[in-house]
Amino acid sequence: MFATLSDRLTSTFKNLRTKGRLSEADIDATVREIRRALLDADVAVPVVRSFTGAVRERALSAEVSQALNPAQQVVKIVNDELVAILGGQNRPLAMAKRPPTVILLAGLQGAGKTTLAGKLALHLKNQGHTPLLVAADLQRPNAVTQLQVVGERAGVPVYAPHPGNQGADDYLPAGADPVAVARQGLETARTRQHDVLIVDTAGRLGVDAELMQQASDIRDAVEPDEVLFVIDAMIGQDAVATAQAFADGVGFTGVVLSKLDGDARGGAALSVASVTGRPILFASTGEKLTDFEVFHPDRMASRILD
Ligand code: GDP
Repeated sequence: MFATLSDRLTSTFKNLRTKGRLSEADIDATVREIRRALLDADVAVPVVRSFTGAVRERALSAEVSQALNPAQQVVKIVNDELVAILGGQNRPLAMAKRPPTVILLAGLQGAGKTTLAGKLALHLKNQGHTPLLVAADLQRPNAVTQLQVVGERAGVPVYAPHPGNQGADDYLPAGADPVAVARQGLETARTRQHDVLIVDTAGRLGVDAELMQQASDIRDAVEPDEVLFVIDAMIGQDAVATAQAFADGVGFTGVVLSKLDGDARGGAALSVASVTGRPILFASTGEKLTDFEVFHPDRMASRILD
């Protein structure tokens, strides 16, 4: 991910290396190239505008460090601004003072929620937590079974609508209610002393009112400590509009970027934190349960500028 953006920025900086001093014209030319690289990578227009504005201003204001040559200074400024749009510092998961900590996952169908549920459960289990997964996605055929498979791989129990149901989704009681399932999942976590509850919810192919209402109803029923919005980094320019729709419709406290292993431009995903003002907590980087990382804006910026 970000390979093209990375190449474009690196070649922009290479052109500066031979310069002893940067004129205003040099800076403007550089900023134009950065703007084009960001736009071509699908970074949202308002984010590009504020990003390039900040880079230009800082480059011109000659906050000169003796230790750095002009090219290095521009790289440092771009690095700092990338870290800023990615949210500054890593924000750890908010854990409830009184367990269980409740984490609700929201996002479009196919965004990678169910996969992420398993990854997050394994990550927390490895940290000594005792998570319980809840299958409140009753919309998609096989979603419950998929979560059960993921839970089994992670070695984390799954609360599903039909107790003891390990088989096909057609065991589900007719009209099973995802809100009731989420609530029962929370009760189960309390009685069985799981300290974290991860609730997988249904997604649709596109944003719709019914989906938002269901996610909001589940949120109200379980009062989550975190609502994590999972976004497929490969969906391009739609990422920002989708994120905005979820921010307005359900509200979320953090973002998970999924499919960061893809080779798409990915810049729209880079805009999500900046546009919604919510930090990126984790990244999903493949189909395996271990393809998961805690998101560090500074490390991601360094990777892009490497
Ligand atoms: P959900 O509908 O939001 O629950 O999405 P799923 O978890 O079912 O994921 C949809 C598809 O994307 C599945 O085929 C997953 O294996 C795949 N997937 C999920 N996360 C990643 C990821 O980080 N990288 C890649 N390459 N594929 C992923």
